[in-house]
Amino acid sequence: MTDLDRYAVFGHPVQHSLSPQIHQAFAEQTGQRLAYTRLWAPLDGFEAVLRAFVAGGGRGANVTVPFKFEALRLATRRSARAELAQAANVLTFDGEQIQADNSDGVGLVRDIETGAGRPLAGQRVLLVGAGGAGAGVLGPLLQAAPAELVVVNRTDERAQDLVLRHTELARESGVRLHTALMQAPGAGFDVVINASASSLEGAAPSPVPETVLRPGTLAVDLMYGPKAQPFMDWARQHGAEPRDGLGMLVEQAAEAFELWRGVRPDTAPVMAALRALKG
Ligand code: NAP
Repeated sequence: MTDLDRYAVFGHPVQHSLSPQIHQAFAEQTGQRLAYTRLWAPLDGFEAVLRAFVAGGGRGANVTVPFKFEALRLATRRSARAELAQAANVLTFDGEQIQADNSDGVGLVRDIETGAGRPLAGQRVLLVGAGGAGAGVLGPLLQAAPAELVVVNRTDERAQDLVLRHTELARESGVRLHTALMQAPGAGFDVVINASASSLEGAAPSPVPETVLRPGTLAVDLMYGPKAQPFMDWARQHGAEPRDGLGMLVEQAAEAFELWRGVRPDTAPVMAALRALKG
């Protein structure tokens, strides 16, 4: 019997992760043979657990909270988008080499444009959050060429740093990119993206006032499952179209799968199966 190629998702916590289900579904759909597991690492032990996995023949990894920054630092090669985000959620192992990439942003853009059917070009977009997720999605959002992109964060300096790092890309993409205060981010956006951990933490339904919404605003929370529900209810109550982070999760996984296996899976049936499972 030949050994299966091994992949894993690393996190703390990690037991909630749907990545094994998603990658197994992609593997079955595309006829690939692989094994994909969850690996928990202590907060000060990510590198040790990762290196043991590589030494045991691991081929690739997804990385989730809170290890995305450390994953980039451990890499020997970095994609341009991982470098810009200063965070990595996909690692590929090749001998001594660790290649870091970030598929969060392309996953989100694909879910908004294809999944929700809302092209971003020319739109006014509000991005809430400047942590690992916010940093990962900003570059690909800019490349989708919205007219304006406003970044707000609880700690304002973090939003300012993130915007500063993306100034050149915003100019190339013709986007008016700037920060604002969380309490006064501007009004009536076409798309509002909550990339903060407010839903994860069970804080108020939204970290920004409802005036950011207008009828028909697409309001996306990167969280999914029951914890996303208060934000989704808040958005719907104010006339917006709510969307959770499940689509982004599946799309970022598809990007990683293609990187590792050279074949692009069809995300639609996997999304439908997960939605049916979650009710
Ligand atoms: P992170 O690196 O820990 O950053 C947390 C961010 O949330 C920071 O900007 C932080 O602001 C802000 N924040 C925390 N609590 C807040 C509150 N009560 N009110 C307002 N802002 C608050 O975490 P992350 O990796 O960016 O993850 C953020 C969220 O995205 C999580 O819920 C995660 O599950 C989700 N996510 C989903 C996907 C997906 O595929 N769907 C992918 C990645 C992440 P400060 O800078 O002030 O601390």
